[in-house]
Amino acid sequence: MNRLRAWLLDLLFPPKCVFCRTLLDDGEHDLCRHCRQTLPRLSGPAARQQLEFLTLAVSPLRYEETVRTSFHRYKFYGQRSYAGAYGRLMAQCVQEHLPGQCELVTWAPLSPRRKRERGYDQAQLLAQIVAQQLDLPLCSTLEKTRHTAPQSGLSEEKARRANAQGAYRCTDPPKVQDRRVLLVDDIITTGSTASECAHMLRAAGAKEVFCVTLARAHGERYENLVKNTVEMEQEYLYNEKKSILGDKP
Ligand SMILES: [Zn+2]
Repeated sequence: MNRLRAWLLDLLFPPKCVFCRTLLDDGEHDLCRHCRQTLPRLSGPAARQQLEFLTLAVSPLRYEETVRTSFHRYKFYGQRSYAGAYGRLMAQCVQEHLPGQCELVTWAPLSPRRKRERGYDQAQLLAQIVAQQLDLPLCSTLEKTRHTAPQSGLSEEKARRANAQGAYRCTDPPKVQDRRVLLVDDIITTGSTASECAHMLRAAGAKEVFCVTLARAHGERYENLVKNTVEMEQEYLYNEKKSILGDKP
């Protein structure tokens, strides 16, 4: 039955590359051959980042054109199915850089209000796939207690840090006590969200906190890319409000 369902779904919605949207050939999954070869992958030390309260943060991709446009479709245009492909890339990255080092998977959650607006929590979906792939338990351990401005709306490191500070709380300290926790988030920029979440997990007794994100934004073009995501997020929120309130956002 499941195979029939999968076959019908493939017929109705032929699988496309999550990055460039070309139709996939038989035997290809998630990515087309071209993207498999040309994605801005991070390897070795470039994939790793040391941040306050975190033992290590790793990311398989650089936040550049193809990755950014694909990610926008995931985050702002309801392409939740991309979580599968993204989560598999992230799990491979964890296996490569942090083999056997994590005991449970958690994520940096949206505020309840933002989750209602969006309909899903994009980091939670990624965490589900990562946990599945690594065969680790998935635990909800954090709560966003303060509705902050979209982090992608703030390009200054200081502003982002202040925005994240005190915004999260560990909801279940016994779950993380003496454990090595893998925190999942979507994109890492200055790392202030990941650091703040790790801070709360460590304060609740976690032995170590690691982080994996789909992509890392850094380098000279970073400011422009972040700015563009800000505009997307603002436009998205504006349209969301418009659809709820009619023509008066
Ligand atoms: Zn492609």
